[in-house]
Amino acid sequence: MQTLQSHVSVLRGITPKQVELLKREIGVDTLGDLIGYYPYRYEDRTQFLAIRDLREANGKQQVIATLQSTRMAGEGRKRRLEAVFSDDSGMLACVWFRGLQWVYKQLKIGVRYVLFGGVEVYGHRLSMSHPSFEVFTPAVLQRAGLDPLYETTERMKVAKLQSTRLAVLIREALGLVQGTVEDYLPSYLVEEHRLPELGWALASIHFPADRPALKLARARLVFDELFTLQISLLRNRIGADGKQYAGQRCTKSGVIIHEFYSRNLPFELTEAQRRVVHEIYEDMRSGLQMSRLIQGDVGSGKTLVALCAMLVAAGNGMQSALMAPTEILAQQHYKSISKFIKGLGIVAALLTGSTPAKARTQLLKGLENGVVQLLIGTHALIEDRVQFQNLGLIVVDEQQRFGVDQRARLWGKGAKYLPHILVMTATPIPRTLAMALYGDLQISVIDELPPGRKPIVTVHCYKENRGKLYGWVEQELRAGRQAYFVYPLIEESATLDLESLEVGYQRLKEVYPHYQVAMVHGRMPPEEKEAAMQAFASGKAQILVSTTVIEVGVDVPNASVMVIEEAQRFGLSQLHQLRGRVGRGAEKSYCFLVTDYKLGKESKVRIDTMVQTNDGFKIAEVDLNLRGAGDLEGTQQSGIALRLRLANLATDGPMLNFARTQAEALLARDPKLEFPEHRLLAAHIEAEKNRGGDYSKIG
Ligand code: ADP
Ligand code: MG
Repeated sequence: MQTLQSHVSVLRGITPKQVELLKREIGVDTLGDLIGYYPYRYEDRTQFLAIRDLREANGKQQVIATLQSTRMAGEGRKRRLEAVFSDDSGMLACVWFRGLQWVYKQLKIGVRYVLFGGVEVYGHRLSMSHPSFEVFTPAVLQRAGLDPLYETTERMKVAKLQSTRLAVLIREALGLVQGTVEDYLPSYLVEEHRLPELGWALASIHFPADRPALKLARARLVFDELFTLQISLLRNRIGADGKQYAGQRCTKSGVIIHEFYSRNLPFELTEAQRRVVHEIYEDMRSGLQMSRLIQGDVGSGKTLVALCAMLVAAGNGMQSALMAPTEILAQQHYKSISKFIKGLGIVAALLTGSTPAKARTQLLKGLENGVVQLLIGTHALIEDRVQFQNLGLIVVDEQQRFGVDQRARLWGKGAKYLPHILVMTATPIPRTLAMALYGDLQISVIDELPPGRKPIVTVHCYKENRGKLYGWVEQELRAGRQAYFVYPLIEESATLDLESLEVGYQRLKEVYPHYQVAMVHGRMPPEEKEAAMQAFASGKAQILVSTTVIEVGVDVPNASVMVIEEAQRFGLSQLHQLRGRVGRGAEKSYCFLVTDYKLGKESKVRIDTMVQTNDGFKIAEVDLNLRGAGDLEGTQQSGIALRLRLANLATDGPMLNFARTQAEALLARDPKLEFPEHRLLAAHIEAEKNRGGDYSKIG
């Protein structure tokens, strides 16, 4: 008897070469792996049409027709096999350009065939080229349904492992293991929620009887996938004893934070900031390690919230570290935080790659003996040499740029207790994605901007109308405002990049002879970059020409115009991020998206979305729908391969919520998955991890 664990070599007629390719190309070893290789699409063969009802360019269509005649025609490369079929309603021509001899041998005049293919019209005649065909038997009607299509690689096709062959192998595998598939979900779950049986779902995802069956099978397997993922993620929060990791208790609300609020803070926190700060306080005094993600739009004031947390830590005798993705951003944080904490008696320090050796040595000493309370810096500060006296809190800003590895290293840094962790995302992401990516983090959302922010007027502008655009910008400059001009990074060619930036720079200098134009790009020496940014920040330069280096961080409230050249080259979240650089001070701000007349469909959606809304969360939803989770910047930059086989985070949100609730409930009862009814589930999760979906260090 075969089981899911049996090796694929038990399948009939499979060659050693094919066995090897299955392993190498798609990671399939066992019958279970093979059955877990789901179709990416289905061909609907539920419908048989009369020839009369065939329509041109209407997708693949299917008829039952009798072969009337065949003939070879043309010479050389034009050589082809033409066949004429008919049914009661009309005639259909079919043509083959490849494999003529083989097809010719198969076809028998007077026999009825099932033909399936795309339909075109040639000289008033309906025609199919290279249809798939098979002899009609009543059995065909029985199994006519949704035919699975499988992804294959070139190598697989060469070795005759094309989609149809995979379907045959999978059908055989399903037959072999029938009745032996044990359900890893506990039966109370299956029964309570009337989930279909696993064996049935596996068979039906490949060979569904009809659409409702496919839907049901898919639902069951999507649930399995998300449920397993959530359990894996949630278990990261749990130590070997089955309890959530302990964290240092911050029970003193503290003089420092009080003084900060009453003396140093020049404005009121927004409602949303207040709520999130409260959530953080609760975490920090719970005695458990905090792992919290703060999501908030550009300019929503995440840094300030993080600072509150750091002050609470300081008030409780603990050190904090704030990590930023770039040096410029770290410097800005350091400057603004230094201002905020002036006179509070807190010692803050900046550590980056360019901190001179001597200062660095001193700083490291200060961290080790506890004199330095707030450390702000870049990646450099997670080098192994950095030792803290008592690190209580780690804040990671613009999280997407940090890979899991780096975060994992952070985790281990705490001595007796793991430090509290606060992660801030640069780009809002939809809740479903956040849950899938950062399932073991609590999520806080700052869904409100500080008062006084004016919505930004976004205008789509064609290159041809640049003259007009320059005029508008000039009006703003005349009113004493400043403007950004951003050029895309063309990754394939850093040279081209610089060229288009240079050209833009020269042109702007000509267009605006009475204004100062500064330029920054990624390949400038840090001092020059700093100098140019400084010129713009201080108002000495009115125009800043740049590549996307200004994407994160920089804060120039007087800038009211953002012009994005070649806007179609930017991703949605990037566009949104860039636009967030303006609208911080001026009465009214503008964002111009400059493109060619001709735009791809997806680019059009991106630009339209930007014109229609300022809401980062809405934009993130559109992005998710456009690109799918795997391609989202948030996903790629997080360094996590989100290997979802079936689930679609854009559309399976409700199922994800359901899976999350179920996973939480299960772990609350049995955190180490020790109950007998969870034995198979635990094994399944382990096996999934080994399959390559190692979620253990996500978060
Ligand atoms: P984010 O990191 O979320 O993009 P920041 O923390 O950089 O946003 O804040 C953007 C700007 O808004 C900063 O200049 C900050 O000082 C200011 N700010 C933050 N919170 C408030 C508030 N409640 N009221 C007014 N201004 C605020
Ligand atoms: Mg920020």
